[in-house]
Amino acid sequence: MKKSSSCLYVVIPCYNEEEVLPVTTEKLTEKINKMIKEDLINKNSKIMYVNDGSKDKTWALIKELNKSNKYVTGVNLSKNRGHQNALLAGLMIAKEYADIVISMDADLQDDINVMDKMIEKYNEGCDIVYGVRSARKTDTFFKRTTAELFYKFMAALGVDIVYNHADYRLMTKRALTELENFKEVNLFLRGIIPLIGFDTAKVEYERNERFAGVSKYPLKKMLSFALDGILSFSIKPIRLITLSGFIISFLSFIFLIYVIIGHFISNNVTGWTTIVSLICFFGGFQILCIGIIGEYIGKIYSETKQRPRYIIKDILLKEKENVKK
Ligand code: UDP
Ligand code: MG
Repeated sequence: MKKSSSCLYVVIPCYNEEEVLPVTTEKLTEKINKMIKEDLINKNSKIMYVNDGSKDKTWALIKELNKSNKYVTGVNLSKNRGHQNALLAGLMIAKEYADIVISMDADLQDDINVMDKMIEKYNEGCDIVYGVRSARKTDTFFKRTTAELFYKFMAALGVDIVYNHADYRLMTKRALTELENFKEVNLFLRGIIPLIGFDTAKVEYERNERFAGVSKYPLKKMLSFALDGILSFSIKPIRLITLSGFIISFLSFIFLIYVIIGHFISNNVTGWTTIVSLICFFGGFQILCIGIIGEYIGKIYSETKQRPRYIIKDILLKEKENVKK
């Protein structure tokens, strides 16, 4: 069944992206024109930039583009809330106007030419289409290995995430409406979206290099993002702590028997080394365990407060063409 003339919104979170926006807009405009011509999407389709509290001229640029380009719309957040929250803000607004939404990064690292394939899958009846990186040749060795390790680690923890899929994906209005019901504050969309269900598909693409500007994900942000993903979706680390608690108690018990027997057989006062190493070991291990449990408590703490995930300052639409659905 071909659902022609669907209205597509491309949602792009932007944090200090003044260097890339002009080129990104140009390329996307070309692509959207082409897709409209091929009747893959309809004329009301748009690009929606979400300015995530940028410190440079990103928002001014979006405002200009909104005037000069017939496809550009914009959302301005009240402050920097991070990639995931900015993306969610854009998705929630776009779903009011669009039939389908594709999310991607501002730097065009995700190949825009696979949008056709995504829409094809949508026409075949899928509600979510994941863009999956087939090769990571252009990523640095460090980024590639840490990212792949992370996906494998998540899978080992039993979290259902799509291997090598970031946030380049197509979602229908129906899937986005369901996404709205996931109220968690510690947002890790890659973990939440597979929970929605419906018919899904994957399309492969090669990830390009960021063509301008620098990555907005320094190591610190990457680590905190990975931790968010793990702690929000798996309680296995806590189970492991309990398990290791059992094992260590068992070993200590055997050791205790050995010490008692030793005490009766030989009268030695040695054992200083053993005591010190045991103190060090258990000291470190206990602090680690308390730390992990603390991380979970921290998550519960922020979830119970139920603070808004983003606050919108301005929305720029195209008055005539944007019709709420
Ligand atoms: N981004 C954002 N808020 C942030 C950090 C990043 O909206 O606090 C956006 C950024 O502008 C880009 C996307 O998230 O569109 C992904 O960031 P980036 O390309 O720097 O990450 P990388 O590809 O290096 O992982
Ligand atoms: Mg990037």
